[in-house]
Amino acid sequence: NEVHVLMDELAIRRALTRIAHEILEKNKGINGCVLVGIRTRGVFLAKRLAAKIEEIEGTPIPWGELDVTPYRDDRSGSASADGSKQLTMNPSDVSVHDKKVILFDDVLYTGRTIRAAMDALMDCGRPQMIQLAVLADRGHRELPIRPDYIGKNIPTSKTEEIVVALKETDGKDEVTIIQN
Ligand code: 5GP
Ligand code: MG
Repeated sequence: NEVHVLMDELAIRRALTRIAHEILEKNKGINGCVLVGIRTRGVFLAKRLAAKIEEIEGTPIPWGELDVTPYRDDRSGSASADGSKQLTMNPSDVSVHDKKVILFDDVLYTGRTIRAAMDALMDCGRPQMIQLAVLADRGHRELPIRPDYIGKNIPTSKTEEIVVALKETDGKDEVTIIQN
């Protein structure tokens, strides 16, 4: 049961800084852009990215959190409780309608979570465009989904698992791979 460190704190910080610049370059600034993190760790990554972008541009970018568990097409069970909100934005009056929405998740694997996230976003309004940022792309896609911004490509076997530790949730910043 080997553990390998693939990204340390500095590597994660540099990847986020690079992604911030890539987002600004691709979108020629942040006009009309909003960041949406996928719960749980994608939210903290989106929040960090929003802070970096504000630092670089001098303008705040709205960010939000999306909970897509109820939309996963490969898991049975609980539809979301009536009235529960999948999307929360900061500031809360910001809508995704007509916006360039940049989704952020920690790890991209089959693509099913992102497909579900796109469904959920469409239910909240009609974004002008959706882009995707991930900290780690571990491959094995089962849907035609490709990230626009990648922290690190990490080829994996299906028996390996990427462990993303973030200060906000785990007390430290580190990406490791474990062979189960
Ligand atoms: P997918 O829906 O693309 O199959 O899987 C992506 C979702 O599952 C992401 O929200 C991610 O958090 C989680 N996930 C899939 N594989 C891994 C992995 O190896 N490590 C971690 N930390 N999360 C994963
Ligand atoms: Mg996840």
